[in-house]
Amino acid sequence: MSSTALVWLRRDLRLSDQPALSHACQHHHSVIPVFIWDPESEGRWPMGAASRWWLHHSLQALSAALAARGSRLVVRAGATVTTLQTLAAESGASAVYWNRCYEPAAIARDTAVKQALRRADLLVESFNAAQLMEPWHNLKGDGSPYVVFTPYWKAMQKQWQCAAPRPAPDALPAPQAWPSGLAVDELELLPDRHWAAGFAEHWQPGEDGAQRRLNEFASSAVADYDDLRNRPDQAGTSRFSPHLHFGELSPAQVVWALDPAGELPTGKGPLSLVRELAWREFAVYLLYHFPHLPEQPLRPAFNDFPWRQPAEYAADLRAWQRGQTGVPMVDAGMRELWHTGWMHNRVRMVVASYLTKHLLIPWQEGARWFWDTLVDANLANNTQGWQWTSGCGADASPYFRIFNPVLQGEKFDPRGDYVRHWCPELSHVVGKAVHQPSESVDLKFGRERALAAYRQISSGR
Ligand code: FAD
Repeated sequence: MSSTALVWLRRDLRLSDQPALSHACQHHHSVIPVFIWDPESEGRWPMGAASRWWLHHSLQALSAALAARGSRLVVRAGATVTTLQTLAAESGASAVYWNRCYEPAAIARDTAVKQALRRADLLVESFNAAQLMEPWHNLKGDGSPYVVFTPYWKAMQKQWQCAAPRPAPDALPAPQAWPSGLAVDELELLPDRHWAAGFAEHWQPGEDGAQRRLNEFASSAVADYDDLRNRPDQAGTSRFSPHLHFGELSPAQVVWALDPAGELPTGKGPLSLVRELAWREFAVYLLYHFPHLPEQPLRPAFNDFPWRQPAEYAADLRAWQRGQTGVPMVDAGMRELWHTGWMHNRVRMVVASYLTKHLLIPWQEGARWFWDTLVDANLANNTQGWQWTSGCGADASPYFRIFNPVLQGEKFDPRGDYVRHWCPELSHVVGKAVHQPSESVDLKFGRERALAAYRQISSGR
C-alpha cells in the first residue's frame, strides 16, 4: 500500500542536511512539503518585519528548489493543528515529520500538535536539524544547566561529535494529486514600506545563497576571522546569521566546511568561528532551561533596576532607533541595521550598552526594536545579547563595565571608515575626529547616572 508523509517545514528551509525530509523520502512513497503561516502560534514573539522580508524570499527560493526536483511547497495559512489535520485528511497522509524548534512558544505548540496528530492515529516524529547539541544535553555533574559560557564550551569540546551533513534527497516522490496551496505572495509577508527594498543588495535568502556564502567564507576569509571579527570596518565575519536562523544552513554544514572530518578545527580562525557557533548553542540552551528570559532578566536583582520611565525616555529611544543620537559609532550601527537588516556584533554591543547604560532605557525596548528590524532576529540570541550587554544575563559583562562608544570607535574602526560609510554627514571629518560625539550627548553624565542606578540594586536597596 502506498504511504504519504507530510514534512512540516518551519525554520529548516533547506533540502540538504534535512533529517525530516530525508526520513520521509526514505520511508514513504510520496512526500508533501508543507509550510504553514500561523503567527499566533509564536506567542509574544511573532516574526518581525525584517524577518518577514527574509521569510518571503526564502520560501520563494525553497519553492523553486522543490519544483526543480519535481516536488512542491504547499503553503497554507491558519491555525497549525487544524491545518495539518486537514492536509493529512485531504492527502491521505499517515505520517507528519518536522525538525525541532526550541523557543518556549514553539515547544508548547509542537507538543500540542504532536498530541492532536497522534490522537488521530498519525505517525509523528521530530528531528534535530538546528543544533550541534540539543539543549537538554551538556548539563553539569549535578544535572543542572551551566549559566557561564566557558565551562559550557569546555564540556562541549570534551564531548565533541558532529555527524556528517546529509546530502539533499536524490528524489522527492510526488503524490498523485497535490493538495491546494497559496502562492507565497498571498501571505503578504513583505512590509508595506519601501524600507526593506534595499536589503536585496546585501543578501540572497535561500539555500543557494547560504551555500554560496559558506563556500566563500570557508575557503578564504575564515583564516583571518579571529583577527578581524571585531572590526566593523572590515568584512571579517561570516554573515551566516540569517541563514542559520531560517535553517537555510545547518551548523553541521559549517563545521564540515571548516574541517573535512567534522572534528573541532585546529586553525585559529576556524576554531574561533566554531566557538561563536557554541555561543549560539548556549543561547538556545539558556532559553530552553530558563524560558522566562525574553521578558525577564536571568539575574533577579535586575527586576528592581531603576530604569527611566517611558514618558521620560521616549525621545531618546526614538533618536537611538533612527541613528540620531549624535554618537557616531552608535548612529552608524543603527543606520546599518535600518538599511541592511543586520549589524556587526561589536556594534550591537556598543549600541545596546549605550541604550541600557548611558540612556538608562530598559533592555527590553532595545530587544523589541532589534526583533522588528534584524533579518537574523532570533529569540535565543537576541535575548542573550541584550541580557549580556546590559549586565543582567548569564555570564554577563558586569553592569559597571560601561563601553565608551568613542573609545570603541577608535579601537575597532580606527580610520573611521565604518562611521563615515553610514553617517555621510561626517565624511568631511578625517581620522580620529570622526569618533567625537557631534551633539551635546554627555557620555560622562550618562555613565555616572548608570553607575548610581546600579549601586541601588547592588547594595540590595
Ligand atoms: P559570525 O561572527 O560570523 O559568527 C558565526 C555565527 O555564530 C553567527 O552567524 C551566529 O549564528 C553565531 N554567533 C556569533 N556571535 C554570537 C553571539 N554573540 N551569540 C550567539 N550566537 C553568535 N544573533 C542572531 O543570530 N540573532 C539575533 O537576534 C542577535 N541579536 C543580538 C543582540 C545583541 C544586543 C547582541 C550583542 C548580539 C546579538 N546577536 C544575535 C549575536 C551576534 O551579534 C550575531 O549572531 C552576529 O553578529 C551575526 O553575524 P555573523 O553571522 O557575521 O557572525
